[in-house]
Amino acid sequence: MTNGRVLETDVIVVGGGTAGCIVAARVSEDPVIHTTLLEWGPTDEGENRARYVRRWLEMLGGEYDLDYRSVPQQHGNSEIRQSRARILGGCANHNTMIAFKPPVWDLEEWVEHGATGWDPTTILPYYDRLQTTIVPVADAHRNAYLRDVITATASALDISVRTDWNSTPWRDGAGFLEIAYTPETGERSTSSRDYLRPLLGNRDNLDVRLQARTTRLLVDGERVTGVEVRRDDGSLERITARREVVLCAGAIDTPRLMLLSGIGPANELKAAGVEVQHASPGVGQNLQDHPETLLIWELNRPMPPEGATDWDMAIFARTDPARPGPDIQMHVPLTTFAVHSEFLGIPTPEHSCSMTPNVPKPKSRGTITLASPDPDVAPIYDPAYLTDPEGYDEAMLLKGVELARRIAATQPMSDWLVRETVPGADLTQPDELREMIRRTHHTVYHVSGTAKMGAESDPLAVCDPELRVRGLQGLRIADASVFPTVTTVNPMVTIFMIAERAADLIKAS
Ligand SMILES: Cc1cc2nc3c(=O)[nH]c(=O)nc-3n(C[C@H](O)[C@H](O)[C@H](O)COP(=O)(O)OP(=O)(O)OC[C@H]3O[C@@H](n4cnc5c(N)ncnc54)[C@H](O)[C@@H]3O)c2cc1C
Repeated sequence: MTNGRVLETDVIVVGGGTAGCIVAARVSEDPVIHTTLLEWGPTDEGENRARYVRRWLEMLGGEYDLDYRSVPQQHGNSEIRQSRARILGGCANHNTMIAFKPPVWDLEEWVEHGATGWDPTTILPYYDRLQTTIVPVADAHRNAYLRDVITATASALDISVRTDWNSTPWRDGAGFLEIAYTPETGERSTSSRDYLRPLLGNRDNLDVRLQARTTRLLVDGERVTGVEVRRDDGSLERITARREVVLCAGAIDTPRLMLLSGIGPANELKAAGVEVQHASPGVGQNLQDHPETLLIWELNRPMPPEGATDWDMAIFARTDPARPGPDIQMHVPLTTFAVHSEFLGIPTPEHSCSMTPNVPKPKSRGTITLASPDPDVAPIYDPAYLTDPEGYDEAMLLKGVELARRIAATQPMSDWLVRETVPGADLTQPDELREMIRRTHHTVYHVSGTAKMGAESDPLAVCDPELRVRGLQGLRIADASVFPTVTTVNPMVTIFMIAERAADLIKAS
């Protein structure tokens, strides 16, 4: 898959994941820009668990999963396992491909945070450029149980039924989602499959190196000049970038690599035994994710088999009408997913269903820091869920439980249910429910914001709005790390769009 050993190139893209495959494919459209993509993992071609979206769960915790474990949590569940796929295509190869255009108010919020130029008028047209296929869950995949949940939700919460999430202006609602997939085959539509792989062997100025982990950025004064790469056989090589290095290693590994290279909060770097190359206090800060809680019911019959992704339906509700967007999202999966609370030994009935209310705009902020200068030691992943001083995130999860119970008590969903097993119908007091939420809540795997873009006046803004790392030349970031705030909706499509824009900025610079 490589075009030979090139030790000098124009643009180095670190990480061939969700964003990186798009950045490399688009930048190398310009034949004068020699582009080298470095991916830590192997190819996804021929890996059927990555090919078919409904097989997503088979990839979790497996050989491709970096599986970062949270440090003990002050308030929330300490057993969070943050899944990150180390394979060409990245996390879009083991996620559930729910596909949402970023809502207008999220982009407006980014502009308020100093991301000038990320306004809806400029950014939303990037959606129309995407080469991935995004379609509503196909009729053949629409599950009868979910149809009844949708009907019950519309009636219980008085919200609309939707399937047109990306083609019409936002309305809160419940319905089958839009998915990046091919309904006829059930294959995922990833940036690896639909941007990068068709180019391999067909584009002379694109060099793709697999099983090539970048272990360090090479910094010379105020300029990043290239990278140090470690191959799977343990050999090291240096690659020089004549123009720039673009980090697309994801919201954990991008800040991790910067910290390992001496770019980050000076005190933290010194404490970890890393020589400071460039002080940037925001690296690894501002970590955001959607915390979600879990309700499980016993079903009085088996779950019907139809489905596109296992996570085909969602509900967006608003408990505070003054907010610009919904303040509760619930996923309604087809299989009960309790991996983060397995340690509690909660029994799952033979036939079960669940709902997972989450906080679309959480106020808690976590961190990624280094435990050691050794690149083989995992970073300290502290999601700090439910730690915001106002207690907003926990209060919203509690409201989510109340709404989910209201839906479950409404026909026709109630016709499917025997009893609630988690939290359990006998748990009704807010304090008891809060305790249960703290013990059982999950991640929705939407880690973002750990090297955010923003205004020059914001000391924690690692990048400027053109995604360039402030204070350094030759270094840009294009992945979920640059989000100033996490999107209300699932973030993958926003990351596709960031990658498209990053490529424009790189080609124009
Ligand atoms: C289980 C799960 C389900 C999800 N479901 C959805 C969903 O349905 N919809 C949605 O919108 N979002 C979903 N998400 C979130 C979404 O998948 C991620 O936010 C997104 O894919 C992240 O994209 P990225 O480009 O930032 O990083 P990634 O896709 O993680 O890409 C990073 C790439 O960099 C590589 N890499 C890392 N470090 C190095 C290094 N040092 N050198 C070289 N290469 C490196 C990795 O191997 C990887 O290929 C889900 C995530 C998970 C884990």
